[in-house]
Amino acid sequence: MATPLSADKLLKALRDEGLHVVEHRSWRTNNRNHKGPWGPVHGVMIHHTVTSGTQPSVDLCYDGHSALPGPLCHGVIAKDGSVHLVGNGRANHAGLGDDDVLRAVIAEAGTLPPDNEANTDGNRHFYGFECVNLGDGKDPWPAAQLLAIERAAAAVCRAHRWTQRSVIGHLEWQPGKIDPRGFTMGSMRSRIGKRLDSPAEGPVDPPPRPAYEPFPGAAFFRAGRSSPIVTAMGRRLVAEGCGRYAVGPGPAWSEADRSSYAAWQRKLGYTGSAADGVPGRGSWDRLKVPNV
Ligand SMILES: [Zn+2]
Repeated sequence: MATPLSADKLLKALRDEGLHVVEHRSWRTNNRNHKGPWGPVHGVMIHHTVTSGTQPSVDLCYDGHSALPGPLCHGVIAKDGSVHLVGNGRANHAGLGDDDVLRAVIAEAGTLPPDNEANTDGNRHFYGFECVNLGDGKDPWPAAQLLAIERAAAAVCRAHRWTQRSVIGHLEWQPGKIDPRGFTMGSMRSRIGKRLDSPAEGPVDPPPRPAYEPFPGAAFFRAGRSSPIVTAMGRRLVAEGCGRYAVGPGPAWSEADRSSYAAWQRKLGYTGSAADGVPGRGSWDRLKVPNV
């Protein structure tokens, strides 16, 4: 039993497990919490999509369809091993399953009872990963995708201090389901268990770069300073109609930079010493200097 991970914690857990993670649209607020409870969480459920192509599969799992509104899972695992986050909260993936199975998952029992009842709300208790595969028994499961399934399930288990016995397939939960088809959940659980014996491998994705240059501090802007940030700032000042350059802009902080920046401050409504041409955080953030 556990409280569901926050969006930030889920994202960090997946990245720390060495996965390439893509945040799809407003996944952080995409859920079915208005239709029922989310949590306590007890495990991870693996599915196949019965679709092909990463983008159509991700779009479908985010939006759902008229008979089954999205999100249809929390993350979509593509054939290239990338994980696309589409939901955070209650998602339409598990449906009604067997209470005996839920008890076995909670106890992390070694064997699962047959799933011969549909009497328990699984969407409340399971994280769901939809894996892109036609589910026809012929569509291949690339090694990169199987590795990503192993990593994603391990990431959630590690975050909750669960073992691999908290990971089940949809076919082990709900009568009549066959997914995932093409590998056994027993083999996948054994891979997850081995992975959990060692620490997480750490992130492979570089931390996302901010779109704009962060404010470098007022002391940055002094005579003798030479930096591509000064050039980028000057170009933005020119674009805003505030350029007071005879030549340039260039990397060396100059009187022309100062008077150009003062024009920008006046344009924003600053007056007096607040429009002295020395950048401050508020005016800098509004200038949106591109990352250099
Ligand atoms: Zn399924």
